[in-house]
Amino acid sequence: MSVAIIWFRKCLRIHDNQALSWAFESNQIKSILPIYIFEEDIHQRSTNKMNENRLRFQYECVLDLQHNLDTELGLKLHIFSGQAQPVIQSILNKFEDQRVCLISEYCSDRENVEKMAKIDSKIIDQNPNWFSKTFPAGQTILDIESIVNSSKYKPPNSMNDMIQIFSEEFGDWQNIVFDVTDINLSDYQSKRCQIIESEFSTRLEESKSRLNTSSYFIGGESIALQRLENKVLLEKQFVNNFSKPNSISTNTEGNPFEPTTTGLSPYLSTGCLSVRRLWNACSEIQQLGEHTKPPVSIHGQLMFREMFYLLSRSVMNWDQDKENTHCKEIEWGTTEQSLLAAWESGETGFPLIDAMMRQLDATGWMHHLGRHAVSCFLTRGQLWQSWTHGRDIFSRKLIDSDWALNNGNWLWLAGVAPFSMPYYRVYNPCPNQKSSLNVETETANFIRHWVPELSEFPSKYIFEPHLAPLSVQQSAGCIIGNDYPNPIVDRKETRRENLERFKQNLATLR
Ligand SMILES: Cc1cc2nc3c(=O)[nH]c(=O)nc-3n(C[C@H](O)[C@H](O)[C@H](O)COP(=O)(O)OP(=O)(O)OC[C@H]3O[C@@H](n4cnc5c(N)ncnc54)[C@H](O)[C@@H]3O)c2cc1C
Repeated sequence: MSVAIIWFRKCLRIHDNQALSWAFESNQIKSILPIYIFEEDIHQRSTNKMNENRLRFQYECVLDLQHNLDTELGLKLHIFSGQAQPVIQSILNKFEDQRVCLISEYCSDRENVEKMAKIDSKIIDQNPNWFSKTFPAGQTILDIESIVNSSKYKPPNSMNDMIQIFSEEFGDWQNIVFDVTDINLSDYQSKRCQIIESEFSTRLEESKSRLNTSSYFIGGESIALQRLENKVLLEKQFVNNFSKPNSISTNTEGNPFEPTTTGLSPYLSTGCLSVRRLWNACSEIQQLGEHTKPPVSIHGQLMFREMFYLLSRSVMNWDQDKENTHCKEIEWGTTEQSLLAAWESGETGFPLIDAMMRQLDATGWMHHLGRHAVSCFLTRGQLWQSWTHGRDIFSRKLIDSDWALNNGNWLWLAGVAPFSMPYYRVYNPCPNQKSSLNVETETANFIRHWVPELSEFPSKYIFEPHLAPLSVQQSAGCIIGNDYPNPIVDRKETRRENLERFKQNLATLR
């Protein structure tokens, strides 16, 4: 073997990167060619799969990777634009007579598994000099493929099932600290950086500068490691007291952008941050004293994450509402474009829902309980629209968008999965301070920021402004129906109707 082509896919980092470590360690590898393939049309401001914000975040991640590879390891990341198969073929064609290994990280989602199988059979197998090597568990803690293929595997549906899987895999899983490999150049023979020219080569800086969004979350490994430091390593009490259901969904007081949870999801889903490194940081901090436990602790959140990766790899039609063993086939209403548009643009007349959806649009992120509120509202709560519509809108806008996690959580919230909460537990979209959505209701500054039409409204009426007397609306400078919409549905009436529909649907399924 002489050349290692390292295909960065969902591990956009140099720390804890098994493929990179292997290439540096192997005596057979003389030179390394790191590549990234952008399969979206990079000349557009947004695509069917990614809105402008998500595109920008992805560009930032790749550009930071390029910078880190260059400055830390002396390697030049080659960035290509096009479909993976022809791009890989064109790169390999440049090494027709050389022994080349295409190294990639395992990606568990169906589309990527199929893509890799095709590249192996249509390209790699066609030349005896070419090989491929895939590393498991780049993006996850568990080796997903080996677990779902083991004879004792049963799809997990609860935290207890996950605890059993973790115990079988790791024994004393609560205290485990995983081996995290970082490359220290002085330990290895230096490797030559392979340089090639290709018709698919592209420069992301130009595409990025065409996007005029700038956002609170900036992509890349460098920022991911800083956030890990600031939110986890330096905040030992925060880690040991972490209790997800008690975290405030309306962000940090004084900063309507900053999550009360870690805010690491965009970095975990792009692989800018190694999930094992986050797990280890929590294990080490937890050893210092009393701490919360799964399901509410940070370890618990990471175990839910693993659960969805296992399920999405083992449940057929994970992203569909038909022929999916983890989805009850509810007859959702006909698609109402006007309801969907109001929900997506934050114009429903329900200030909490609108604030959350506008935050999503502006930053690409939303607190977990905010996601609960808006997904329940769209489906079994008020609008009776299929969860797949919400899933698609989230998928395009979330900077932490992830096929396994997005589908799994939508199934959960729509009330259709075995792990769902009971369908009759519907959130009130107009919460008070007792709501389990954990909304800050006293100052309501989060609502004032994201729905500026209501910025002068008294907190007493701000969650249901259409109930405010006209004199209150006038002195707040916002007439409901003119300056901010009336509620698009009667929340109590639709809740009652939808509970009845859900019940009837369940009766026909039995
Ligand atoms: C309808 C809906 C859709 C969602 N879509 C996504 C998605 O596409 N991508 C995504 O990463 N998360 C998704 N989530 C899960 C969750 O809301 C986010 O992971 C979390 O809010 C991210 O914030 P954080 O990093 O501060 O999380 P923390 O509470 O700090 O948790 C740490 C990490 O654990 C993982 N995690 C936490 N909660 C969950 C969960 N319920 N499921 C899976 N992993 C979890 C995330 O990687 C997160 O970064 C969705 C939730 C809902 C209700």
